Amino acid sequence: ARGAGDQRVAVIGLGRFGTSLANELMRRGWDVLGLDTDARLVQKHSDALTHTAVADCTDPETLRQLGVQEFTSAVVAIGTDIEASMLVSSNLLEAGVPTIWAKAVSRQHGQILERLGVHHVVLPEHEMGERVAHLVTGRMLDFIEFDDDYALVKTVAPDIATGIPLGRSQVRSKYGVTVVGIKRPGEDFTYATAETVVERGDVIIVTGKTHSVEAFTDLS
Ligand code: ADP
Repeated sequence: ARGAGDQRVAVIGLGRFGTSLANELMRRGWDVLGLDTDARLVQKHSDALTHTAVADCTDPETLRQLGVQEFTSAVVAIGTDIEASMLVSSNLLEAGVPTIWAKAVSRQHGQILERLGVHHVVLPEHEMGERVAHLVTGRMLDFIEFDDDYALVKTVAPDIATGIPLGRSQVRSKYGVTVVGIKRPGEDFTYATAETVVERGDVIIVTGKTHSVEAFTDLS
């Protein structure tokens, strides 16, 4: 488990993305230092976050004075101002912050951040757009794609998965997916086994290669 000292993160940029992230980290018991050039935003979030400061983080000296080099992780939540995003990221790398996350507004922006050496680049709008596409086209209720083309999906069970124990269904042999969880109407999620019999109207959690999971959830 992490020690309390590790659960500290600097969030640079308190726009919509940075604020949601910072609030969620607070909710999970982390210490959050929130920084923004905009005094009005800093004021607005000063009660909710552990520490806040008005700071232009493109200035390495400012970051140093705030002790950012002591943090084990930092998130660059600046999107629109790509130049600022790159300068702040390179300052954090220079300061030796071990884990740096940054949000990018375009694939090119993301590529530059990766080339700089930022450890984790996220493209919230692209990623959310792809995810919503999966929800719009099928019966998927939720969709998460991991690296290596592997996905986890929440979906209404297609007929092929219902009526007989999962172990005897063709779910894995024919579709290459695995049912890992099941939720009957009005009940909580529970794990699924080879003996589980899924009924029509049950919601299931399925894992597998992204294309397999997509094909499976397109069945009705
Ligand atoms: P969102 O779409 O999540 O609202 P924005 O890119 O619009 O993201 O907001 C980024 C935030 O980062 C803004 O509040 C802006 O004031 C802040 N910001 C921009 N440049 C700097 C900087 N050099 N140092 C600190 N904060 C900055």
